[in-house]
Amino acid sequence: MGALWIHDDNKRRPHALLSSGKHSNGFFNASLATSNPDVLHQLCKALLRQVDFSRQLPQMVVGSAMGAVTMAYEIARQLDGKTEAGFTEKVDQLMELKRFSIKRNHKVLVVEDVITTGGTTRKTIDAIERAGGALLPFILTLVNRSDSGQLDGYNIISLIQHHLPIWDADDCPLCRAGSKALRPKDNWDKLNASY
Ligand SMILES: [Zn+2]
Repeated sequence: MGALWIHDDNKRRPHALLSSGKHSNGFFNASLATSNPDVLHQLCKALLRQVDFSRQLPQMVVGSAMGAVTMAYEIARQLDGKTEAGFTEKVDQLMELKRFSIKRNHKVLVVEDVITTGGTTRKTIDAIERAGGALLPFILTLVNRSDSGQLDGYNIISLIQHHLPIWDADDCPLCRAGSKALRPKDNWDKLNASY
């Protein structure tokens, strides 16, 4: 669906400025796939096939806004229809469960569309812990583009495992070559233009 973008080493072409502030030569624009409800349904179904919930069905599924909002709902719907769904939202430098509450020790499953550095997911985990939820020992993501199968001791279960390099701005070979770093979703046409 054109959601995976890789830089072609043409220095006139911009490269990706990630939400962590780091730079990359690749990007998964998951919303190009998840905006299609039928595709999202199929992706979540395929992801859930990898999980054994026999011992611990979650009472709530939580994703980070905005990327994982619809995914949290779709995963909850496919689980058993009794599982609630919610999302965290950015408040200053944190994520907060602004419009949802969790009953103490209710089991919560965290889902993501894409895990890159894990920074956003880590903030969502913190928000659920502050709210008194008990996290399942794994996180579900459509794409894991980090080079690890774990995040702070939580196993990452992904549909696609595809490591893409990231660099600090000071250390970015594409910046050095003269390419500009731009926020990918806002500049998708520039990233994909013919140069
Ligand atoms: Zn750069």
